[in-house]
Amino acid sequence: MGMIRLVVRSCLCLTLVIVFPVSSFAQDEAWVDALTVDGQPAASLHPSHIPLPLRPDQQRKKWIVALASTLQRLHLVGSPLMSRSLFSASRSAAPPAYTMRRSGTLRGSSKASTVDIACSGGGRSANPDADIYATINIWVGSSKVATSTGFGPSPTVYAHFEAASVDYDRPISCDLQAGFGYAYASGTLLADCGNVDVTNLRNEYRSFTVDWIPNCNEFQEIGVNEFNHSEDNTHQPWAIVKDIVYVKRAEVQEYALYQVRITSSYRCPHINASIPNSAHNSHHMKGDALDMTPPSNRWSPPTETEFNHLHDAAAQTGPRFITDWSTYSDRHLHCDWGG
Ligand SMILES: [Zn+2]
Repeated sequence: MGMIRLVVRSCLCLTLVIVFPVSSFAQDEAWVDALTVDGQPAASLHPSHIPLPLRPDQQRKKWIVALASTLQRLHLVGSPLMSRSLFSASRSAAPPAYTMRRSGTLRGSSKASTVDIACSGGGRSANPDADIYATINIWVGSSKVATSTGFGPSPTVYAHFEAASVDYDRPISCDLQAGFGYAYASGTLLADCGNVDVTNLRNEYRSFTVDWIPNCNEFQEIGVNEFNHSEDNTHQPWAIVKDIVYVKRAEVQEYALYQVRITSSYRCPHINASIPNSAHNSHHMKGDALDMTPPSNRWSPPTETEFNHLHDAAAQTGPRFITDWSTYSDRHLHCDWGG
């Protein structure tokens, strides 16, 4: 009788090996639920669920563990305890060979001198009868600042860190290893400019994906003037107007025969984005551009002669870029100096 059982068992084992290719076995999974700063989720970071491909040596171990798990579930071999110890023993301490990245932007805060970076996630064992370790790490730049672990068939983990605010951006990330699964989330801890209005205005450059992000100290308390119109910038009195604009505006005036009117200079990113046909990375956001018209034509387009006179005056100032008569239907002149 014992002999017959052994034969049946061997046959089943053989069948299982043939029927289940390696890829059909489940893998451990890991995911990062959220990477937040002061409770604000990163804009483009969503709950992620990232099972990862395994290295060949991990594949082999997984195959053995999964086969043992299947046989055990079919009550062919071992006890749940045996499978558990087998699985735990096969857990590799080696760093994962593959990473997946999700990028996001995190909002800084000016509410306090510190910000709380938090990361949460979890994992699931490929074998529901086997426990796995889950380890979560938070990184600021290249420094690991917080770590936390969990253990179980479906462990959840959470870590947080109180970071001192600084006036420059820092990359932050969170990684999570659960058994053989690995997940990663990254973002940017935005500068705290020490003034909530300046911090928010600076953050607009990132949220509107402008190709240039000013330093905190580039914003000046300018107030409404011809370089900082209230309809172009709702973050008064803060704006960026580079020194070269003051110099070149005076030069244009010197070369022109009439009082030149500045119709637009500094624009905050959200206003710039709302203007039809505006350049995505417009120099108006960089504080080195001017839109000009002859004053008598403030509410109606200038004649071609008037435009060309203004164009010739501005062209003498050595602009980086200058438009011509055919560029805009309202016939304003755009000039920027890339300073
Ligand atoms: Zn312009």
